[in-house]
Amino acid sequence: MNRIALRPKRDRSVRLRHPWVFSGAVASGEAEAGETVEVADAAGEVLGYGSYSPASQIRVRMLSFEAGSVPDAKLVEGRVASAVGRRAAFFADAYTNAVRLVNAESDGLPGVVADCYDGWVVCQFTSAGAAHWRDSIVAALMRYAPFCRGVAERTDAEARGREGLAVGGADAFAVLAGEEPPELIEVHEGPVRFLVDVRRGHKTGFYLDQRDARRTVGAFANGADVLNCFSYTGGFGLFARQCGALSVVQVDASAEALALAKRNEGLTHLCGTTMTYEEADVFQYLRACRDRGRTFDLVVLDPPKFASVRSQVAKAARGYKDINLLAMKLLRPNGVLATFSCSGAMTPASFDTVLAEAAEDAKRDFQVVARTCQAEDHPVALSFPEGAYLKGVILRALQ
Ligand code: SAH
Repeated sequence: MNRIALRPKRDRSVRLRHPWVFSGAVASGEAEAGETVEVADAAGEVLGYGSYSPASQIRVRMLSFEAGSVPDAKLVEGRVASAVGRRAAFFADAYTNAVRLVNAESDGLPGVVADCYDGWVVCQFTSAGAAHWRDSIVAALMRYAPFCRGVAERTDAEARGREGLAVGGADAFAVLAGEEPPELIEVHEGPVRFLVDVRRGHKTGFYLDQRDARRTVGAFANGADVLNCFSYTGGFGLFARQCGALSVVQVDASAEALALAKRNEGLTHLCGTTMTYEEADVFQYLRACRDRGRTFDLVVLDPPKFASVRSQVAKAARGYKDINLLAMKLLRPNGVLATFSCSGAMTPASFDTVLAEAAEDAKRDFQVVARTCQAEDHPVALSFPEGAYLKGVILRALQ
């Protein structure tokens, strides 16, 4: 096995069991993409083993931190089995049939995501090591995922490019084991039902990470006129409807997402809420509402990632401030703003600062009435704070 020697004083993060070894920390050694390497400190002490990725700034992703415990198929399969086992409560309580089974680094499987939609598992392998261990992971999912009907892969995640892996286009979806999933898979979160397009939808098809937030926000929707910005397939808006909203406007730039949102509305028979769909750029839509004097009791802002690397944070902060300021101005007295950021590079503290600055410009006072983060099936390893990317703040306007 090839050895990667770290530079002097660059072993601290590996000792803290952080799974990433950056190229700048490596003194010597190389290997093929995905190959398992031994990682040693400058004095030659073995710190563990990981998967090598020559194309990536993250040169090694650690799989084991024990000298002698060399990763093999059995270790990888065991990691899958444990990750699935930790989700047993989801399958027992039946609130939902859409669950993330493997959450990458935080489940000890760097670059591996596996989401289960009513028994159909859809994976993303976004690092060289993840791609290397793909067949073992798929076999383990077939074996251990409850009620598993098949395992498929999506190869269109941008992150693959940074690892030197092919990024799929029209052919980005492939069944790797078991049955072919239907065109649309019906899932539910509590009483709210959704169709998931695992071939063309975002990520693996659905934003499972916002499950808890959808429930939290729903609780503020009774009797409310709701504006759900960046609605995707309707998530927050359909929860608001379920919780007794008077009206819901779903705004998204994607016609496909809105088409699915409409079909999702039809899955549940409720008639008290006026539902409207607007294919629009949220920045423009919010300005148009302001100019027309439209107001709402509840506004949801769940934008896509504005910053994926630290250098984009300043620009991202301006984008977040813009939409939050506009949304704050549309709130009626005592209105609620549910605002989210899924940019890992934006810390919770800096997001709060952005919100405080937006409130200042909006000349309104707010209370934080709740905070949300990614759902429990998206755990964050204590040694991997980068895994905590999603934050939500629920604000109430005081006047
Ligand atoms: N809240 C959703 C997830 C939102 S994902 C849920 O609970 O499922 C972000 C969405 O923003 C995507 O659907 C994308 O199409 C949309 N989007 C991205 N940029 C946009 C823009 N400038 N205006 C409107 N929608 C946009």
